[in-house]
Amino acid sequence: MIPGAPDRTRMSDDCIFCSIVAGDIPARTVYETDDVLAFLDANPLARGHTLVIPKSHARHVGDLGSELASAVFDAVAELTPRIQEAVDADAANVGINDGEAAGQEIPHVHAHVVPRFEGDGGSPIHAVAGRRPDLSDEELDAVADEIADATGA
Ligand code: 5GP
Ligand code: ZN
Repeated sequence: MIPGAPDRTRMSDDCIFCSIVAGDIPARTVYETDDVLAFLDANPLARGHTLVIPKSHARHVGDLGSELASAVFDAVAELTPRIQEAVDADAANVGINDGEAAGQEIPHVHAHVVPRFEGDGGSPIHAVAGRRPDLSDEELDAVADEIADATGA
């Protein structure tokens, strides 16, 4: 492979974010490592709204191997305070829409870093879900057991 050329074996055809990684679609890149790219959201929710993505194509967070998952979260942890400082924000929401029902429109994992400003009229991340379930203690115990079983805890 030509040094510096995009590794197209890790790309998915017709994925916008793979095309950004390959340099085929322009983006306002703010950070880059061998494994991770961060660029401004084209339709920002706030000044400085940044997307942090793995350079390899993966649709869901569960599809990331542990190395890539670590690389993405390391970048998020490093960038979030820097983005806040750059745009003089007071806080930030960090989130991933994982799957269509959760609002994922681009099927390539991306963490949103959304700077927040005192009095900006926004909501906490608790506002993303629909109606809250009314769960009894027994139901909460059962859910905890189901998840613990699923995670092998
Ligand atoms: P999702 O709903 O998948 O979590 O978020 C996708 C995000 O990608 C949206 O906030 C949208 O504005 C952004 N986006 C979609 N297409 C492009 C693009 O071509 N370039 C950039 N920089 N952002 C994009
Ligand atoms: Zn992709």
